Amino acid sequence: MTDRIFVDNLRVPCRVGLTPAERGEPQEIVVDVSIFLSLARAARGDEVKDSVNYRDVKERISAFATGRKFSLLETVAEGIAGALLDSIVGAGLQARQWCPACSCECETPQHYCGTPTTLRRGVRWIQNDAVNLMATLGGAIVAAALLLR
Ligand SMILES: [Zn+2]
Repeated sequence: MTDRIFVDNLRVPCRVGLTPAERGEPQEIVVDVSIFLSLARAARGDEVKDSVNYRDVKERISAFATGRKFSLLETVAEGIAGALLDSIVGAGLQARQWCPACSCECETPQHYCGTPTTLRRGVRWIQNDAVNLMATLGGAIVAAALLLR
């Protein structure tokens, strides 16, 4: 089942515009985001780690929008979608390995200490590269939807 999480009417400063003058001072942009995902596991386990933390989402949006200058709002929207997908997929699905010798998490099948690691959570084939690729594809799909509206 797919659930939806909305972040509506989030106002963040952003340097966006076609001319250097327009990009010179931050303007307030209003961001609405819909995130489609399954919250069944979060509901069963009552664990925030299985859900999406609104504060994290807002911080991600704000950090991306204020982080650099943009010519087009479409670029901002695509980037926000990509950054959110990256953090959600990264947090929920990305493989986390456990090194029993060092008692710490890492992302590789073998820890740098040489000890083979075990899968702690996530999906083994989803490593960082796959997360980045999905984030890029997700951003592209959202941008296409914006342009066609
Ligand atoms: Zn280790």
